[in-house]
Amino acid sequence: MRLRYHRRRLADFAGGMRLSRELIGHERWPREQLRQHQQQRLDALVRHAVERSPFYRERFSGEIGSGPVELSRLPVMDKTRMMENYDEIVTDPRLKRDELLAWVERMQRDEFYLGEYRAMTTSGSSGKKGLFVYDAGGWRAIAAMFFRQNAWMGVKPRLPRRFRMAIVGGAAPSHMTRQGSANLKIGIHRFLGLPLTLPIERMVAELNRFQPEYLNAYPSMAVRLAEEQLAGHLHIAPKMMSTSSEMRTPEMTERLVEAFGVHPFDLYATTEGIWGVECEYHEGIHLFEDVALFENVDENDHPVPPGEPGAKLLVTNLYNRVQPIIRLEVSDVLTIEPEPCACGRTLARAHAIEGRSDDVLRLPGRKGDEVAVHPIEFGIVTRDREVREWQVVQEGRSLRILVVPRSGASNALERRVRGAVSQRLSELGVADPRVEVERREELARSAGGKLQVVVADPAARETHLGSR
Ligand SMILES: [Zn+2]
Repeated sequence: MRLRYHRRRLADFAGGMRLSRELIGHERWPREQLRQHQQQRLDALVRHAVERSPFYRERFSGEIGSGPVELSRLPVMDKTRMMENYDEIVTDPRLKRDELLAWVERMQRDEFYLGEYRAMTTSGSSGKKGLFVYDAGGWRAIAAMFFRQNAWMGVKPRLPRRFRMAIVGGAAPSHMTRQGSANLKIGIHRFLGLPLTLPIERMVAELNRFQPEYLNAYPSMAVRLAEEQLAGHLHIAPKMMSTSSEMRTPEMTERLVEAFGVHPFDLYATTEGIWGVECEYHEGIHLFEDVALFENVDENDHPVPPGEPGAKLLVTNLYNRVQPIIRLEVSDVLTIEPEPCACGRTLARAHAIEGRSDDVLRLPGRKGDEVAVHPIEFGIVTRDREVREWQVVQEGRSLRILVVPRSGASNALERRVRGAVSQRLSELGVADPRVEVERREELARSAGGKLQVVVADPAARETHLGSR
């Protein structure tokens, strides 16, 4: 059984490598050529879904003729509906939602379901659980995007002195990043994985010993390590760094550059299948839209033009056939950059991954309106030199800012942070901002180790909208 596992893993690795080279060849295509490629894959995906998935057969009946598929005419899907209809959506009738969920729950390490599928779950901040099964083709596209991100950052397999990569993450085995790194561990790189739950002293000692050339961490953890480096406890000199999964504000980036002397690449990856990475210009994340299509839309699913933030994405995965993902809502807030990038790649660029729309705070405005406050606005808290970590918790129309101070922080910290945030909220048009600041020893993280920097109170919106 394990032998079969290893064989399949090596095949995924090799297939992913091959595909990544093919994909890199698309990056400078004229937009029209890219569009044709997308259309071909979309047509094949939708026809496959209609043929093999009872759900899509019924849902798309009448919409699919013999000509090119018009994506914008197909119905939009949300995660709740996907989960409710899961057993009819998948194209392999052996796959059953409840059995899969129970299997993922029991999973101890990287494993294949029925000897061929990878299954993973997501838990959105809204608490809606998502289940995703990938077949060999779909998974190799994921592996290819992993290698492609590395290639953009300059991480290449090297022998005989193998490249030393350290990844600080706390994801469960069912999470995509854990399965992705399991795929990587076939001996091409030297690899150190550190759980987020490790005490910081141990983490510093491990990194000092390993001396990574490449370091990946969630932004909040990377900033924590930057503190250790600046304090003289951590002594590493990575040639490359990357961050992912959480929002990274410009202020956090500044601190990372100050500590490590390299500009960190921001990675973007979703379990639904849209991924991306910054290029060497660090002016937005190029999205790998030759693997998955994205539509940047407002709350009513209408397209949002470049230069304006959307409310969510609709994602269509062009490679996974076993669980067709067609116009699935992903609650990430993106602004697409209208201008082409100086690097010459034609892949669209997201100007900012501004956090999830669930994390956007809605506060009463001075003009009786409602002001949307993006998580990125709270980056000013990082600018305070005495702040190590922070989290914003909304309670009704009040905000509680939990702050983990640096050692030796002064008593003026709370007042300063409260002043800075109140001023920013006023500038944004919030009426009578109510801000409290509290010191904490540490902040609560999710089971996956992620820090939700802004915790919105959904009930607050109804209250102040109702009071208008
Ligand atoms: Zn670029």
